[in-house]
Amino acid sequence: MIQPKDRFTGCLLAGAVGDALGAPVEFRRRDEILARFGPTGITRYAPAFDGLGCITDDTQMTLFTAEGLLRAVVGERVHGRAAWGAIGARALLRWLRTQGIEPAVEADTGEPGWLVGHPELHARRAPGKTCITALLDTRFPGQHPRNDSKGCGTVMRIAPVGLLGARLGDRQTLGETFDLAVELSALTHGHPTGQLAAAAMAVVIRRLAEGATLPSALVDAKRALASRPGHGETLRAIERAERLAREVRPDADAIADLGEGWVAEEALAIAVYCALVADDLEHGLVLAVNHDGDSDSTGAIAGHLLGALHGARAIPEHFLAPLELRAVIEALAADLHDLPGSPIGGEDEDAARRERRLGRYPPN
Ligand SMILES: [Mg+2]
Repeated sequence: MIQPKDRFTGCLLAGAVGDALGAPVEFRRRDEILARFGPTGITRYAPAFDGLGCITDDTQMTLFTAEGLLRAVVGERVHGRAAWGAIGARALLRWLRTQGIEPAVEADTGEPGWLVGHPELHARRAPGKTCITALLDTRFPGQHPRNDSKGCGTVMRIAPVGLLGARLGDRQTLGETFDLAVELSALTHGHPTGQLAAAAMAVVIRRLAEGATLPSALVDAKRALASRPGHGETLRAIERAERLAREVRPDADAIADLGEGWVAEEALAIAVYCALVADDLEHGLVLAVNHDGDSDSTGAIAGHLLGALHGARAIPEHFLAPLELRAVIEALAADLHDLPGSPIGGEDEDAARRERRLGRYPPN
């Protein structure tokens, strides 16, 4: 029996592990990866950026997304409403600042809070151009981007929305989880597929965190997608991944058939395929990074799925021990999980605990 908290922690940790595993090979083709690492490809951390187990922009942005959600929940308690989009935008603008880039002078980035104070986050790890450009253009929180991008920079950061939905339970419908993911994706990516693929991902993560099987979580995601304009590309990509998983055993050619993962629906499809065919979590992560395309992002997305499915205890220790920011990732997962049944800071939470949490997540 996998406990819900183990799924929350597993989701964010395994996403970071997949990101770090894929980081050294993000811009390498599969034949180059095999030439360097042998016939099984890359199966252990290799040096990237500042050493072994370094996360990239995918995990950094996931952490800021989680932080924004927590601050919005605190805001709901303090102000009586949760300004998800505006607070989510400010969180991403604080991430922009960690990249050494100052947001527009008129853009409000909120109080600094706890997360941005971690010096290891202040590192550039090949951030996506769309995210940087869109955030640099942001003049007010919640402004929609002037681009038509469907890059995978939405899907790779959206898992915390699914975890929050699982925690809110009856207080947020699956459709509302979907809509929140669209809203937060639309902060950086203008193309419907960039937003809808992320929203489908959020629904899958929510259902896995609630204990559903992956096939049944995918049914819910496809159902949520089907009523939205512009869903065809994303729906077809998921269905193709499911079909290949039924017909083809773990196979690099099947992954190549799904694309390279630079765009949202391909990244989602590759991660879904890997999670469906994997013998276990480690196998799925290795499959998800040994291909021609965007290995750190597909590794991160597959990790979010596999971690929510199998829990943190399924992650081998050799991946966890060197993982950068492990304690911060675990703390954010725990804070998302430990939201009380009523809005944060409710009567079931003791005063000291409430003070600590409110201090970490200023409501703006
Ligand atoms: Mg990256």
